[in-house]
Amino acid sequence: MTHNFFAGPAILPQEVLAKASESVKNLTEMGLSILEISHRSEFFANVMTEAEAVCRRLLNVSDDYAVLFLTGGASSQFFMAPLNILPSGESAAYIDTGAWSTKAIKEAKHYGNIVEVGSSKDANYNYLPEIESDLSKYKYLHLTSNNTIFGTQYQEFPDVGTPLVCDMSSDIFSRPLDVSKFDIIYAGAQKNMGPAGTTLVIIKKSILGKVDRHIPTMLNYETHIAKGSSFNTPPVLPIYVSMLTMQWVERHGGVAAMKVRNEEKATLLYNEIDRNSLFKSAVSEPYRSKMNVTFLLNDESHMDGFLAACKDNAIVGIEGHRSVGGFRASIYNAMELSSVQHLVDVMKSFEAKNG
Ligand SMILES: *Cc1c(COP(=O)(O)O)cnc(C)c1O
Repeated sequence: MTHNFFAGPAILPQEVLAKASESVKNLTEMGLSILEISHRSEFFANVMTEAEAVCRRLLNVSDDYAVLFLTGGASSQFFMAPLNILPSGESAAYIDTGAWSTKAIKEAKHYGNIVEVGSSKDANYNYLPEIESDLSKYKYLHLTSNNTIFGTQYQEFPDVGTPLVCDMSSDIFSRPLDVSKFDIIYAGAQKNMGPAGTTLVIIKKSILGKVDRHIPTMLNYETHIAKGSSFNTPPVLPIYVSMLTMQWVERHGGVAAMKVRNEEKATLLYNEIDRNSLFKSAVSEPYRSKMNVTFLLNDESHMDGFLAACKDNAIVGIEGHRSVGGFRASIYNAMELSSVQHLVDVMKSFEAKNG
């Protein structure tokens, strides 16, 4: 068995992969493959309905919000969000907690007055900055809930008197959420929700229709709300597999159970990083991500040796992002505790040989 620690596209539950591959060969309901059916077929219409419904059940999403499955990746939300909801001349607050936030800020600047109210750039994004408690003069506050590259994560969302717009690409469905704090939640599927190819957008309907600029039809949230995410051909397979993954989360106790499971895995791994004399965490205690665990060697000369030990023990995707170095273990919902235990065992035996 291979232990998949890739950051994204990333691990999916075995049960989901089994069902998905069966559906590629033969959708029993129609005798066709999921890859060759119309997005207007009854089968897929039901998939879209259930994908939206299971998302609503998992996160308790009220009818004030639309749930969309779009394309263009989370990266397209960096401009779609301000394009649709930030009137020209008005201000929005952004927190810069790493590469994805930086990209969101760059795109948003074309649509309004973007104010960076906090940044952790000074320490290569290894913490989450303090921000002012009253940001009510801004249309919204944008933040990245989990910084996939640097390994920091908000454990609580700030109450700052303005709605939040949040990139949850790498921790959606990893824990319970109070959706009412958010005007927009968006997430590329390929970290914690499904395969690459679709982006989940949860959006408060009442905030739309308030900007006077021209919005291209395909970039207008209202287009996709009116057509139930099927204005044009939606990515059938990614939405289907995302639906299966969300149903898997539900069968395994929902997001509350995922939170417990994720905390158990993260605690096991951070405890070993803190204990092991060869390694150190890249992030200090209150900011540590439960999804992407970044860690470094005290002595970089062990780099190749540890990577070889991982390879010998069927651990893949553990190399750190080039902007942090070291290692990154992505331990999303689908990762089993036994795989994290396996990594911990490899770290212990590496220490016994090299410590
Ligand atoms: C991966 C990632 C993105 C980029 O997603 P794409 O779907 O590739 O555009 C954006 N934000 C975060 C937090 C990510 O982890």
